Amino acid sequence: MASFIRNGFKYTEDPKQAEVILVNTCGFIDEAKEESISTTLSCADYKKNGKCKALIMTGCLSQRYSDELKKEIPEIDVFLGVSTYPKAYEVYKDFIEKKKKINLIEKPGFIYSDPDYISTIQKSGYMPETFSYSAYVKVAEGCKSRCTYCSIPSIRGDLITRSHESIIDEIRVLVKNGIKEIVLIAQDLTADTIELKALLKRIGKMPKLQRPTWVRLMYCNPWGVDDELITIIKNEEWITNYIDMPIQHISNGVLKRMGRKGDSSLIRGLVSRIKESNIVLRSTVLVGFPGETAKDFEELKTFISEGWFDWLGLFVFSQQEGTPALSMPDKISADLAIDRRNELDRIQFEVTTALNERYVDSIFPVLINCKVDGATEGRIFSQAPVIDGVVRFEGEAKGPFVDVKIEQVNGFDLIGKIF
Ligand code: SF4
Repeated sequence: MASFIRNGFKYTEDPKQAEVILVNTCGFIDEAKEESISTTLSCADYKKNGKCKALIMTGCLSQRYSDELKKEIPEIDVFLGVSTYPKAYEVYKDFIEKKKKINLIEKPGFIYSDPDYISTIQKSGYMPETFSYSAYVKVAEGCKSRCTYCSIPSIRGDLITRSHESIIDEIRVLVKNGIKEIVLIAQDLTADTIELKALLKRIGKMPKLQRPTWVRLMYCNPWGVDDELITIIKNEEWITNYIDMPIQHISNGVLKRMGRKGDSSLIRGLVSRIKESNIVLRSTVLVGFPGETAKDFEELKTFISEGWFDWLGLFVFSQQEGTPALSMPDKISADLAIDRRNELDRIQFEVTTALNERYVDSIFPVLINCKVDGATEGRIFSQAPVIDGVVRFEGEAKGPFVDVKIEQVNGFDLIGKIF
């Protein structure tokens, strides 16, 4: 988007008005593929009923299936994969000049190319999903693990890390442009825990004014989380007391078939140490994996009912081509898998609501998201952007942060008033 804006384009929220439409896709499970395709199809309509001259598909679905999609959705003019984003504008120009469809899929491995996309985007009027004060910073690409259900390594490739200098540079530019929260992300953030800890040390040494107020760690696999990392999260005031640690299951049999490193005792030990340290815990669980017995599910259900997780993402197993799980025996029916997910969903709702009660009557700095229906919406340290609950309160915030007294729990969300 930044490359188009620098070349004279303006951002519009209304796809009917757009001459170029970029659809950034996801393709690692069936639901994501369906959503990506239906969004692309609805954008393809604007070639007839709008001003669209170029429909560009980028991202994982494009990387994985551009040859098939070329035939199925002929309205797509340009395919970019997960490593060719930086070439978006040049490829578009080529397409317009030569009037020839382009399929530019290259080996995965792109991490970062633009030292200051943020100021360009901020001036464009585009509002990211994370709103004005929060940004993701990618520290690595690809994955060296091979979980048997996961297509991500085949789309994103093997693990490639990024230099600390480059990460620090990006953080510095983001903070200079008003970003207050940096969410450090990678497919597996703790693939190299020593590196991660060294990076956190480097961020800690940044002059206070250049450092974000909040740094949040997401997608830390259990086998990469150790006591030292837990202590760093607990002690550093600029790291939110929050960790996203996907566990996927708790039954040893299922974990083994999933190809996950580490067993249930590792997970149980970590989870209890994280909670003893008063760190908010988010996780992800996958149900309906081949061979998941009623006993396996009961074990998972009991574990979730124990109330360890503040937030929990629940997925139903989606069989993906090219993964070992595709040919595993004892498949679970979709109906049963969905029932299992729904059951966990109900339990987790109770858990999150109950855990949210502990914030009532306390005052927290709230990072502002936006205004919704007259109320202001933001997040406290325990709420990650986009995926967790929010805080709502009446009144206008005067800056990025405002102190809010939490008065009430409303399911996943909190209600408060400016203090
Ligand atoms: S660690 Fe995550 S990205 Fe890597 S293979 Fe396993 S599920 Fe996929």
